[in-house]
Amino acid sequence: MSGLASAAGRFAEGQLGHAVPRPRASELASLADALNHMAGELHTRIGQLQAQRGEQSTIIQSMSDGMIAMDVDQRVLTVNRAAERLLALDDRAARGRLLQEILREPELNRFVAEAIDAQGTVRGELRLQFGGGKDVEVRGEPMLDEHRQRVGVLLLVNDVTQLRRLVRIRSDFAANVSHELRTPITNIKGYVETMLDVGWDDEEQTRDFLGVIVRAADRLEAIIEDLLSLAELEQTSGPDRVGWEDVPVGLIVRSVITGFEAAAAAKSITTRDEIDAGLAVRGSHQLLEQAVGNLLSNAINYSPEGTEIVIRANAIDETTLELSVADQGPGIAPQHLPRLFERFYRVDLARSRALGGTGLGLAIVKHIALVHGGRTEVTSELGAGSVFTLVLPRA
Ligand code: ADP
Repeated sequence: MSGLASAAGRFAEGQLGHAVPRPRASELASLADALNHMAGELHTRIGQLQAQRGEQSTIIQSMSDGMIAMDVDQRVLTVNRAAERLLALDDRAARGRLLQEILREPELNRFVAEAIDAQGTVRGELRLQFGGGKDVEVRGEPMLDEHRQRVGVLLLVNDVTQLRRLVRIRSDFAANVSHELRTPITNIKGYVETMLDVGWDDEEQTRDFLGVIVRAADRLEAIIEDLLSLAELEQTSGPDRVGWEDVPVGLIVRSVITGFEAAAAAKSITTRDEIDAGLAVRGSHQLLEQAVGNLLSNAINYSPEGTEIVIRANAIDETTLELSVADQGPGIAPQHLPRLFERFYRVDLARSRALGGTGLGLAIVKHIALVHGGRTEVTSELGAGSVFTLVLPRA
């Protein structure tokens, strides 16, 4: 009997591995069998529960949304890894403490208080102070026990900073496009209406008006062409495109220089190239020409008469080359440099417009570099000229 009692005691302590020795008396023997059977069952059940808990914890930990579970007093039960990262919390340090003690985010704390009082799910969107102002979507879900009594709240936090930023960029872009298109359209409309009012008997005046209208239409065309180029470039992904070839850099540069010969000559600007032999880029001949063409066109447009422009290309190492356009123009003040490649960014709007610029040229150059797996750089000094550089992978 004492063997049975001590085995039962061991089972009660959770040591389920040792079977009860089977006594000879048959009643006691069946009791021992029953105990052993029970121990076996318990062993299996506990194993299952542990596996299940492990599985749940893996799922919770690998969720990309931040999750904090807390009881009705806002005492933290668990914090998953995404929430640790997003809110700079530590699961172990957080457990058992009040959320407002470990997290000083007034808006989020208010939201949690609201979620605790609410009947069902509550949703919101707010900006965190931590991490330089992240935008997050938050959701509070009531946690219920098996009697459907509320035992706490599950807080889910999703970082939407990137998404919001993209939406903002897109709507800024749409606003910019509308604004850019409005000016030439207003011009065209204005001059046509004037002509309808005053008639077209005065041939010289009519000719002037038509000239303005044609220039405005040209401008519309240029903006739309550049916008289409950008849209196409955004859909181009990676260097596996059909139609890509090894393009010799010398060929690109010389064909661009020839294309702009007349424009350069009109301002007595000389263009020169210094290109290492044998350099080539794997990519689209047409796009690379467009990029170098935009840089040369800017250099000619913004430089004073009689200056020189030098296009250089040299290998940086086995895999990378540098192609730069250096001018002796007015240069660009340092505060403009970080934003120069943004769409519609101009240092001097009136000057750019007068020169027929769309404000999209450098954005196109940057995108062309990107689709070739490269990047753009600029160095400039006021009064001393600018150097625009394409850094590209070699063929
Ligand atoms: P834009 O059509 O106005 O030339 P870009 O995107 O090509 O548009 O260039 C953006 C702005 O950068 C220009 O408006 C101009 O202010 C400045 N910029 C570009 N290239 C040069 C250069 N070579 N020298 C001086 N300023 C330049």
